[in-house]
Amino acid sequence: MALEVYNSESRCKEPLVPMENNTVRMYTCGPTVYNFAHIGNFRAYTFEDVLRRVIQFNGYGVKQVMNLTDVDDKTIRGSRQSGKPLKEYTAPYIAAFFTDLKTLNVQSAEVYPAATDHIPEMIDLIKRLFDRGLAYQSDDGSIYFSVAKLPGYGRLAHLDRENLRAGARVAQDEYEKESYGDFALWKGWDENDGDVVWDSPWGCGRPGWHLECSAMSMKYLGETFDLHTGGIDNLFPHHENEIAQAEGATGKLFVKTWMHCAHLRVNGEKMSKSLGNFFTLRDLLEKGYTGREIRYVLINAHYRQPLNFTFDALAAARVSLARIDECTDALTERAAGAAAAATPDWAAQALQTFTDAVNDDLNLPEAFAALFALVRDANKAMLTPGFGSGDAAAALAVFDAMDGVLGLVRFGRKQPGDELPSEIAALVEARAEARKNKQWAESDRLRDELAAKGWEVRDSKEGQKIRKL
Ligand code: AMP
Ligand code: ZN
Repeated sequence: MALEVYNSESRCKEPLVPMENNTVRMYTCGPTVYNFAHIGNFRAYTFEDVLRRVIQFNGYGVKQVMNLTDVDDKTIRGSRQSGKPLKEYTAPYIAAFFTDLKTLNVQSAEVYPAATDHIPEMIDLIKRLFDRGLAYQSDDGSIYFSVAKLPGYGRLAHLDRENLRAGARVAQDEYEKESYGDFALWKGWDENDGDVVWDSPWGCGRPGWHLECSAMSMKYLGETFDLHTGGIDNLFPHHENEIAQAEGATGKLFVKTWMHCAHLRVNGEKMSKSLGNFFTLRDLLEKGYTGREIRYVLINAHYRQPLNFTFDALAAARVSLARIDECTDALTERAAGAAAAATPDWAAQALQTFTDAVNDDLNLPEAFAALFALVRDANKAMLTPGFGSGDAAAALAVFDAMDGVLGLVRFGRKQPGDELPSEIAALVEARAEARKNKQWAESDRLRDELAAKGWEVRDSKEGQKIRKL
């Protein structure tokens, strides 16, 4: 079955096919870097990672842009409280975010634009909204979007326009559906902003959060693109306002498909910083859980179902991963480097079920069921007398195909060659010593000796990289 996903706007499943160049252009709202991201945030980022992997699994390219919100109400508040300039305050959280993504085996996006690097693009967008009569300046110097003037406003969140209170304004970045009104595009400077301030044709101030994403997404993905995602809390007002700003300025469709993941919860409530009921990734690593186990828990539920976080789920993930590892280790041993034979029927069947599941709006619970059917059938097949090394290699290839989506089977496991035979390790060490002493001829000789023994060595900034030929 071809890939279909649930579009939050139409509230239906629809085919996901790239509009251009066989590549899905995808924008994912990234972190507000005022603190360490919590695992609720990482539910959103791992969902988006699985989504991008499923798109690739279907043979399409992906261009993903994930922004870094490094100026908004929360980052400014944090920087003021810490007494540090904004950039200095956000830098360590940005660095931590990228480390955390690696810990969870999340593939890198193609572009990570930071809001503070795109102020001119935001000012330009406001100019276009003025030209179209959709923006106005209030007495305090802030600029607002006039929602009553855009007939389609409310389309994504299915707002009742009857409740529209013309001219009512909200200055904060986040607010409830009930209090919707004109929202801030640009916030005129006040003393709470300290030295976080930029010049604009309308006086000094700073951008509103929603404006950041419209400006940066269109800069990198074009005025109309395929896919926009986030957690369900982003749907209103953030994404509704992104549509208003973009479509208000261009007169064109902004995004074809909107996808939102449900929340990670704790005792029935959204995990969030403001409720104080959160764990950062680092908290869980300190407790002895691995990124692999946490990834397992986060992606194993359906992304549109709320997921309750529990330590029991992490313990269960450890057991499940051990079952997978036992099976793939046994297959690797049986395959002993042989070429794959024809895929056994039971493995082909598991892959088909898996493919249908992920293409049906990322049905990961069913995809995991297919993975465990593969484990069960491989364990059974290994007990039959006719099972050869080529069959084992073929079964492993199916694990690898599934792993393209899951990013769990090989992740964090030792690969053949990770542990060097002692004779090879000794040669590598001798070569490191020779290089330290600038004995280049000896270093070359040792490289040739390693090559003769079937090991390729490359020199990089981090030192020697060794690989079995
Ligand atoms: P923020 O840093 O608050 O802007 O959030 C970054 C991303 O995490 C957004 O896509 C949010 O929708 C998402 N998010 C925040 N809390 C949760 C949660 N408890 N479960 C799932 N996603 C969340
Ligand atoms: Zn956004």
